[in-house]
Amino acid sequence: MAFHGSARPAVCGNLFPASDLGHKYFCVNTSGSNAACSGLNGSQNPAGPSQPAETPRHPSTIGGSTGGGAAVPQPHSSPASEVPCPAEMEPDRPIGYGAFGVVWSVTDPRDGRKVALKKMPNVFQNLVSCKRVFRELRMLCFFKHDNVLSALDILQPPQIDCFEEIYVITELMQSDLHKVIVSPQPLTTDHIKVFLYQILRGLKYLHSAGILHRDIKPGNLLVNSNCLLKICDFGLARVEEPDSSRHMTQEVVTQYYRAPEVLMGSRHYGSAIDIWSVGCIFAELLGRRILFQAQSPIQQLDLITDLLGTPPLSAMVSACEGARAHILRGPHKPPSLSVLYMLSDGATHEAVHLLCRMLVFDPAKRISGSDALSHPYLDEGRLRYHTCMCKCCYSVPSGRVYTRDFEPAAERPFSHSYEESMLSVWQGKELIHRFITEHQQGKRVPLCINPQSAAFKSFIRSTAWHSSKVSRKEER
Ligand SMILES: [Zn+2]
Repeated sequence: MAFHGSARPAVCGNLFPASDLGHKYFCVNTSGSNAACSGLNGSQNPAGPSQPAETPRHPSTIGGSTGGGAAVPQPHSSPASEVPCPAEMEPDRPIGYGAFGVVWSVTDPRDGRKVALKKMPNVFQNLVSCKRVFRELRMLCFFKHDNVLSALDILQPPQIDCFEEIYVITELMQSDLHKVIVSPQPLTTDHIKVFLYQILRGLKYLHSAGILHRDIKPGNLLVNSNCLLKICDFGLARVEEPDSSRHMTQEVVTQYYRAPEVLMGSRHYGSAIDIWSVGCIFAELLGRRILFQAQSPIQQLDLITDLLGTPPLSAMVSACEGARAHILRGPHKPPSLSVLYMLSDGATHEAVHLLCRMLVFDPAKRISGSDALSHPYLDEGRLRYHTCMCKCCYSVPSGRVYTRDFEPAAERPFSHSYEESMLSVWQGKELIHRFITEHQQGKRVPLCINPQSAAFKSFIRSTAWHSSKVSRKEER
């Protein structure tokens, strides 16, 4: 689409004042220790981020020195006393729980920037969890897209014998779409358009890399007060399976957003399952209530057929026998898509048209992410995003210089061939340890955890509680 100078949106509206959520999430307690430390913090640090990093560097610590001294895990077995009063970095508070792992808001001692710290627990329990975590880690390091959360850093692991957990640092976002939808703050059509545009823009990138997210839901769409959106939580993501005879797990996608083919027991599915979830979210943004809120997978399927009507047999070819029998046993239902117009005033003809292209029972006939992006409903969202939110376009005195490719695909597919060489937990541990070490080489001053820190202990307590609660859902 072409942009014209006069067609700029008047306002790049904020969704909520940054200070509101800033107060909620960003109140890092740095009392005392941060100011007193002169270690690896900002400009006082001779080996800081602005300096070339060829020589071996001391890691800066998360958790700091309170409550236990600077017992910092060292590379090359250096004595802890060599660390000059490491910069304090106190975990603030939990900000979210993914399918696997816990996320906390912390301050990076190297530059004072607030970031999100994710602990990936139970990594080396078995080979399946080992592969899953390594896949997520590699994906987070692979992503280079403004609407997809990526790893800013990985904390330095201890010696391999003590290596049990992985900590990843990502950009910190202020809220997520679930919190926004259930909040009282107004959601205008402009908001909905710019959110939907960014969700599809991120998904197009993921799908072009051959990655299925498999858990697209409002809580996994992080947003900032300026309406920037990033897809997060790749704990259930995997590479697309080209061989339709190979079985894929059905333990995916939060039930309300689960596509009919998964509900019907299809053993093979593709990127269309993510698009179905986006359709549900689009309707939820319009109506501010969950579109298909059922108590069980069977009721979930019933609610879907209430809206879309009884599907033809051709749309159920991959379904398991029991699910197909359930549909055929019931009364024949006519479609009732016109109720979508009643979601809200924002449910215009254009909006409902796009929604109906996403909420298609047959995955083969459902619209793709890149085709959805060409729908006229998203033109204004694209314009708004690239006029004042993106990093790919820029302004000069004479106007805005737009990028050539508004919705870039991945440069290459994500490769998971490394998984084949992972045959045991110990081998997996070595592979992951090497990956993190190599990933860090030549980059910034490495960060690591100070397990003696009092501040860090509350972080550990919360993650232990969480991992005992969610140690399930391993996938094939
Ligand atoms: Zn742009």
